[in-house]
Amino acid sequence: MNIILMGPPGAGKGTQAKRIAQSSKIPHISTGDMLREAVAAGTDLGLKVREIMEKGLLVPDDLMIDLVRERVGREDTKEGFILDGFPRTVQQAKALGNMLCDLGRKIDIVLLVNATEDEVVERISSRRVCLECGKVYNLLTLKPSVDNKCDEDGSELIQREDDRPETVRDRYRVYMEKTAPVIDYYSDNETVLLDINGSGDIDDVTREIMERLETL
Ligand code: ADP
Ligand code: ADP
Repeated sequence: MNIILMGPPGAGKGTQAKRIAQSSKIPHISTGDMLREAVAAGTDLGLKVREIMEKGLLVPDDLMIDLVRERVGREDTKEGFILDGFPRTVQQAKALGNMLCDLGRKIDIVLLVNATEDEVVERISSRRVCLECGKVYNLLTLKPSVDNKCDEDGSELIQREDDRPETVRDRYRVYMEKTAPVIDYYSDNETVLLDINGSGDIDDVTREIMERLETL
């Protein structure tokens, strides 16, 4: 099954995508994670996108489309994938449709995780990530066992540069302007679009997603 997970920044896409990927045994493809890895490694792509990401703006479509084309063409996506953070523009959505068509595949389901602006601002402000393994925590809802240390490897937890309060509302605005139209694009398409209430606690949201997927 080829799934897209959409929703505003901080809605819980990454958190839910990891759970679905684990239970469905399909790879979780997070474009945000891929870009952060490129920045950390100092690759050409990383150097091009670092400043754009810090400002909470979108990386140009052509760079994103090349990145995703290479990733979805790999062997491990044969049984499906869950895309988190892509497409973020209608142009990306169209390019994704074309690249999958070339591979004889298509998007089966779009899961839209909804949360209000105030909820996402609060969640993002309290999001912390492990510098080493990237595991995501939350100071309010998903605390590490030891303050500021990753449960997995004991490394320090940090706040993402683009999670600072002054950038978060800009990212939400970018989402409403550039990414919300992608939802309309899929509503007009023949793709199954499932609306998920992302306001409940993490387990409730997972349960709702799993139940909705099972009914298909
Ligand atoms: P969040 O999970 O909080 O929504 P992401 O980790 O998905 O954020 O993305 C972080 C940043 O990476 C974005 O603000 C943007 O700069 C860049 N980015 C990720 N995916 C895309 C994409 N599909 N198109 C353009 N920029 C992207
Ligand atoms: P996204 O990938 O959409 O940007 P994340 O999955 O990283 O969002 O979640 C954003 C923050 O909110 C993280 O700190 C995460 O631990 C926390 N979080 C995720 N889902 C929920 C939820 N349903 N209720 C409360 N906090 C949540």
